[in-house]
Amino acid sequence: MQRKNRILTGDRPTGQLHLGHYVGTLKNRVHLQDEYDCFFIVADLQVLTDHLENHSSIEGNVFEVMCDYLGVGLEPENTFFVQSQVPELAELTMYFSFLVTLTCLQRNPTVKDEAKTYGVTNISYGFLGYPISQAADILAFKADLIPVGQDQLPHIEQTREIVRSFNRVFNKEIFALPEPLVGEVPILVGTDGTNKMSKSLDNFVAFAHSPEETERRILNMVTDRKRAYRKDPGHPDECFAFKYWSIFAPTDTLVVRQECETATRGCKECKAQLAQKLNEHLAEIRNRRQCYASQPDFVWDILATGTKRARAVANETLMEVREAMKISFPKLGDLKGGR
Ligand code: SF4
Repeated sequence: MQRKNRILTGDRPTGQLHLGHYVGTLKNRVHLQDEYDCFFIVADLQVLTDHLENHSSIEGNVFEVMCDYLGVGLEPENTFFVQSQVPELAELTMYFSFLVTLTCLQRNPTVKDEAKTYGVTNISYGFLGYPISQAADILAFKADLIPVGQDQLPHIEQTREIVRSFNRVFNKEIFALPEPLVGEVPILVGTDGTNKMSKSLDNFVAFAHSPEETERRILNMVTDRKRAYRKDPGHPDECFAFKYWSIFAPTDTLVVRQECETATRGCKECKAQLAQKLNEHLAEIRNRRQCYASQPDFVWDILATGTKRARAVANETLMEVREAMKISFPKLGDLKGGR
């Protein structure tokens, strides 16, 4: 039987996921899981590229991300795995690093942008080289498709370049070229009405937030900056709360727009209603999330099963790679036991 096309995607475990993740990627992943063999990487090593001094909560964050994944409706039968617990990935990263020049990494626009976004001034070897690590993540599982936004395309091209070089240098077609699955990745502006929703800016609504906390955050949301008084007509197209209406309660937008533009709706009541809609929208996700969060052993088991599967697949690839590179030594026997 022909295998389903495989997808690799995931997140860095830097904390609880939020509505920005939901709108940007998670909602789409829930659909993708029906059609593809999905590998979800919890990329803990990638956290170290810019959180080296602040990494003590990685294990807790991995758990939170898993609860969020399962809460939004990703099925436990998918392959969820922790990057650092698949050591084959580190080994592949090492091998692939010989195929990429320093100049090429320094030119990567996504690396430059991310260094700027995360305020990384003293760029480490690991940060500069993380597109190679990403290539290893993709190629270890021979992923066919990688869901990405436009800004991530240089990383995929870097992976494809590694495939071409590998196949040429070692004269073996181990890897096919992975294809980007480019979709529109909507960016949700946070409750400050200025920046992309982000935990570090505290302008977010997390799945783990209570309905009361969600309401508090939405009521504090920045709205139409041109509307000084309740009696003034509003400008929904310039209001971030209205964007939330259009994403989470699209059938209500006609009424909201009309009432806003005629000043029959005040911003405070509008945000209170929005919070209620959001809470209704999130209720199922929160219930499911809470159900998983209350069974931590079960959640860790899902991750352990996925990580074992990921290791098995990555190991097969690694064996092929070592053989192609003439660095497999069958005469040494199985060295796993050590001394
Ligand atoms: Fe925005 Fe609602 Fe206020 Fe209109 S009434 S400006 S949509 S918050």
